[in-house]
Amino acid sequence: MQVRYWDREVETQDRESLEEKQLEDLRVTVAVALNTPFYRKRLASVGMQSAEDIRTMEDFYKIPLTSKDDLRDAFPYDMLAVPLEQVVRLHASSGTTGIPTVIYHTRGDLEGWTELAARSMTATGMTRSDVFQNMMTYGLFTGGLGLHYGGEHIGSLVIPASSGNTKRQFKLMKDFGTTVVHATPSYLLHLHGKLGGEGISTADLALKKAFVGAEPHSENVRKKIEDLFGIDVYNSYGLSEMNGPGVAFECEYKNGMHLWEDAYIMEIIDPVTLEDREDGAGGELILTTLKRTATPILRYRTRDLTSIYPDECPCGRVHRRISRIKGRTDDLLIINGVNVFPSQIEEVIMKMPESGTNYQILVEKSGALDKLTVKVEVGSQVFSDDARDLNALIERVKDNLKASISISPAVELHEHGCLPVYEGKAKRVFDLRNGDADDIIKR
Ligand code: ADP
Ligand code: ZN
Repeated sequence: MQVRYWDREVETQDRESLEEKQLEDLRVTVAVALNTPFYRKRLASVGMQSAEDIRTMEDFYKIPLTSKDDLRDAFPYDMLAVPLEQVVRLHASSGTTGIPTVIYHTRGDLEGWTELAARSMTATGMTRSDVFQNMMTYGLFTGGLGLHYGGEHIGSLVIPASSGNTKRQFKLMKDFGTTVVHATPSYLLHLHGKLGGEGISTADLALKKAFVGAEPHSENVRKKIEDLFGIDVYNSYGLSEMNGPGVAFECEYKNGMHLWEDAYIMEIIDPVTLEDREDGAGGELILTTLKRTATPILRYRTRDLTSIYPDECPCGRVHRRISRIKGRTDDLLIINGVNVFPSQIEEVIMKMPESGTNYQILVEKSGALDKLTVKVEVGSQVFSDDARDLNALIERVKDNLKASISISPAVELHEHGCLPVYEGKAKRVFDLRNGDADDIIKR
């Protein structure tokens, strides 16, 4: 495979020089962070008053972790490290798990982000000859603008389609010969379901690649999208606290996401004991910005669960890879005492050929016990079959789930199009034990 680099020097430098530069940039970042009331206080609590106090990485590990609540408490300006006149944009997280957090950017911060985005997209083989249709929501959410500027920086034609309006997405794809799209995996599955209704087949499209991110998804979902459209699908990881998309991205080998270590220090910790877990065991990802000026963040608890691959990637990039995100620490469902991640359920469902592309997970109280229900969309063919076949299919889904999560859930089959679809991040888990009854549709 002919590997394409955006910045060969940075991508393929040796480990030692990368780590030396990390420490250097860390010191600069700590100096900048000390301009903020938040970090002045936080660092003082461990006896650090200046960047001089960071001599080795051992000193770095003494810095207390920063949480999402810290960012909220610092709202609006306690984590801003430069005068407001130097700030040119702000972004906010989508607030999936509560009040959004705000991140400010200087012009230099945005240039740094754009570099990372261009590097990420190039790693998948994308070039200036590509036509890039960005189906992520434009706005405060970082999914839209991040890769938008990355695509322009590469020199490709960028179509700022934003999310939703399936008909228009198809029209843009056909009119301009879109070769690369960026969307949530659930939206791409939804889009494929609508192709037929619009009288379009995948052969009418010039599509070659998709970047998917913003929500957890399994390897089986990737395969499903690849097979349905006949394209290559690359996993993209990012979060607004660390810019947005362009933090970690798969290269053409599609074997885990290179996390750009010249821009971030990564650590993996046990989310409960907070101990270091970089031995491949997996845990919560902790990130530190190395290039940001307006909102530097030290040792941020992403709450995302992943692990670092120990081996080198054949592409020759020095930046280590992280595995597919298994879920968030706060996604974990404890059902009658058993730990279940929604991603385990998804994996089972997506492996079954009968299942469609949409599902829902429901947890509720049934007397003293917890009850798990999994709703799965299946093709209409299944419903025209004998009722006995239908029951046999339900039993098979149940058995496969039981084998994976050790719990036997209730299983409901639904016709395609019956479960709600989302243009942004999909909401598939409804935990009614916590009064999470907001938008349950068609129960
Ligand atoms: P919010 O935390 O409000 O959802 P963001 O819009 O910043 O805010 O979303 C970032 C989060 O989205 C990440 O922390 C992660 O949980 C999830 N995410 C982003 N990309 C991926 C991906 N490729 N796979 C799984 N989860 C992802
Ligand atoms: Zn690689």
